[in-house]
Amino acid sequence: MARMYYDTDADLSLLQSKPITIIGYGSQGHAHALNLRDSGLPVTVGLYPGSKSVAKAEAAGLRVLPVAEAAAQAELIMVLLPDEVQKAVYLQEIQPHLHPGKILAFAHGFNIHFAQVVPPPEVDVVMVAPKGPGHLVRRTYVQGQGVPCLFAVYQNASGQARERAMSYAKGIGGTRAGILETSFREETETDLFGEQAVLCGGLTALIKAGFETLVQAGYQPELAYFECLHEVKLIVDLIVEGGLSRMRDSISNTAEYGDYTRGPRIIDEQVRAEMGKILTEIQTGQFAREFVLENQAGKPGFTAMRRREAAHSIEEVGRDLRAMFSWLKSE
Ligand code: NAD
Ligand code: MG
Ligand code: MG
Ligand code: MG
Ligand code: MG
Ligand code: MG
Repeated sequence: MARMYYDTDADLSLLQSKPITIIGYGSQGHAHALNLRDSGLPVTVGLYPGSKSVAKAEAAGLRVLPVAEAAAQAELIMVLLPDEVQKAVYLQEIQPHLHPGKILAFAHGFNIHFAQVVPPPEVDVVMVAPKGPGHLVRRTYVQGQGVPCLFAVYQNASGQARERAMSYAKGIGGTRAGILETSFREETETDLFGEQAVLCGGLTALIKAGFETLVQAGYQPELAYFECLHEVKLIVDLIVEGGLSRMRDSISNTAEYGDYTRGPRIIDEQVRAEMGKILTEIQTGQFAREFVLENQAGKPGFTAMRRREAAHSIEEVGRDLRAMFSWLKSE
């Protein structure tokens, strides 16, 4: 078993005298900033002048500075910008202020592992990556719990990088749930693979293919929506609570038999071979190059795909159905 570290393994006081700046106030940014502040650590938020987030962060009682000023006065700089904008902001507003002894931190290894950001050797470079979306990182913290995190060290200039990363993870509540050590490479490659093959790409493709198969066969789209999309959450909740076996206990024997006999025909040898290719594209940097170039070109393909996907009939049916579910809205 990989070792999990908890509250007693991490020392918050290592960061107590180190001003921290959180660059960006989005999904992860707001959660890190507020949790660290509530843990008693000195936090500033770095935003570009005119950002809509300035008012939000200030309303939450946080000090906000322009990115370059925030980076200049901080000892620990956590970069929580979208991955595709990190390089430009880093070069213009962070790198000039990276004096020896400072700590540069990330919540995902993409830009370091794929060499979009190349920090000077005299700074610590660490990662603390919550394994959950930002709103959960904040909500669980407020409830006295936390979201499990991965942590890693890329550069250990101070000799204390690992302890500092663990201290940060404690500050955002990660060690309440448990944190696991990894490397920038391992986190980057497994995170990209998970979101492409299973969590985001695999799941949405599976849902759409099931929905389209039923609708094309003449069944009501509303029923297809329930069977192929809505019930996913009910099944996944059971799996997360108690593994595949807990879910299989809960479903009918008919469903369980269909699961064993039909599931492997859907995810067959061809699908597994394609998963292998997708992993290779990640490992070789082919995916990273494609994503970086797509963004440099102004996201033409990304934008077109977003629009096409938003117009899929499963989205229309879903909007209409969800509007009728008052019990869903309270969530
Ligand atoms: P996000 O898109 O929610 O927020 C980024 C914020 O950056 C914006 O809200 C804005 O305040 C700021 N911003 C956007 N464009 C900018 C620009 N051009 N210049 C300056 N500031 C700009 O980002 P996120 O999803 O929180 O991701 C931040 C990092 O955390 C990424 O490295 C991501 O991979 C990682 N991460 C995200 C999640 C998640 O669930 N969202 C989970 C783990 C790790
Ligand atoms: Mg997004
Ligand atoms: Mg992920
Ligand atoms: Mg990711
Ligand atoms: Mg059913
Ligand atoms: Mg059963």
